[in-house]
Amino acid sequence: MTTFADLGLSPELLQAVEAAGYTEPTPIQAEAIPAVLMMKDLIGIAQTGTGKTASFVLPMIDVLASGRRRALMPRSLILEPTRELAAQVAENFEKYGVNHDLKMALLIGGVQMGDQVKALNEGVDVLIATPGRLMDLFERGKIMLSACELVVIDEADRMLDMGFIPDIEFICDKLPEQRQTLLFSATMPPPIEKLGKKFLSNPKRIEVSRAASTNENITAFKIPVKTREKRETLRWLLRNDLVETAIIFCNRKTTVRELNKSLQSHGFASGEIHGDIDQAQRNKELQRFKDGEINILVASDVAARGLDIKGVSHVFNFDTPWHPDDYVHRIGRTGRAGAKGRAFTFVAPEDAEAIENVEKLTGAVVPVFGKKDVRIELPKTEPKPKREKPKQEDRAEDEQDEAPQEKPKRSRAKRDDPQQDERKPDNKPRREKREPRDEEPRHRGRRNEDDEPVPAGEWNGPKPGFLGVGFD
Ligand code: ADP
Ligand code: MG
Repeated sequence: MTTFADLGLSPELLQAVEAAGYTEPTPIQAEAIPAVLMMKDLIGIAQTGTGKTASFVLPMIDVLASGRRRALMPRSLILEPTRELAAQVAENFEKYGVNHDLKMALLIGGVQMGDQVKALNEGVDVLIATPGRLMDLFERGKIMLSACELVVIDEADRMLDMGFIPDIEFICDKLPEQRQTLLFSATMPPPIEKLGKKFLSNPKRIEVSRAASTNENITAFKIPVKTREKRETLRWLLRNDLVETAIIFCNRKTTVRELNKSLQSHGFASGEIHGDIDQAQRNKELQRFKDGEINILVASDVAARGLDIKGVSHVFNFDTPWHPDDYVHRIGRTGRAGAKGRAFTFVAPEDAEAIENVEKLTGAVVPVFGKKDVRIELPKTEPKPKREKPKQEDRAEDEQDEAPQEKPKRSRAKRDDPQQDERKPDNKPRREKREPRDEEPRHRGRRNEDDEPVPAGEWNGPKPGFLGVGFD
């Protein structure tokens, strides 16, 4: 068995790794670390949550340990697609670099430039940046990239897709010819990999698991459901699938907003994050989620990549994502670092094509959630099949969700997204287990079987249509 000590890392680094609590390298770490130390260009592909960050940050620290920093001329660069992810990688850098004298600057949008400029003036060893802010500072003459000899493009397939590629080309053009370049992701569509190769020279390709394969610690299901039954189905699962902490992804920002409101009105402790929320608010919501003040985060794909939040037990795809790679990343917010997770994907008729694409990409049919997968005890005798009467207001909201909207072409919001940091190690999911029935507000003048007390852990009607068979 390979140990960290076998990989050629310095004693200072081994100490930091031990302090982080890691006992052995993950497969991508075991393969990538020696290659990076040998100054090779790399394409590194490994499943979500398997430690890709340390696989480049650790060897970078040792490579940078010798050499001198100079004003305005960073020695290395890590590019990330969102501000939150950039901030998270910066935290990783600090954690692993505790025993080294290295300076880092985090260049992300949505915050003042002052401190970033100051740090650059003083000289940095590593820049961690989203492309938009990096380009802004470059254009203002606050930074030179000509001494940047080690470059990481994390979430590389995302960074090289249509939304970001002009920025990446601009940036790479300013970098020295002679440099080491590393690309990492859990997904890597072949045309994008081909494109990526023009930024690399003679790269070593490390694929510890087939690109776009999902992490085996995630138990995934799909649920055929009518569009207007998505919310009811979601509430049922939130109450009955032993959910501790969940991220719920929607395809549209309007759906994120409306679903969050709806969940809150049903008593759930939820928050939201998407690209239209200002940075300060986005940071706040994410922090509340990490701190356990809320245990449900409704999100757009801005939260799909890279975020490593402890204790996320569930991911829900309220809509099947349009781009199948996003499926791999979304569900990859759970099942990280060896933990188990569950992922549910709602498949309404309009999601049919999207789920086919997901299954084609991942190479596996996602099983339909059935009675055997239910985690509470179902009554022996079937409850009378009875449909929950849709509440007036729910109906209206749900119909809005259904309103046909153009499926956007793959030109995602470019220039960066927001912020954020890793959780404190000691903050477990903390709210007490909710009584399944407590969050339904009682003042709605509605009577259904929810009003009858049911012993905890027992079937808490209504009989969800999705446990029958699909959309009838
Ligand atoms: P990826 O980029 O592959 O999705 P991350 O780099 O975000 O994964 O790491 C996922 C989690 O695994 C993080 O919480 C990290 O601290 C943890 N981790 C990384 N390397 C190890 C290791 N060797 N042993 C145990 N945990 C690790
Ligand atoms: Mg990552």
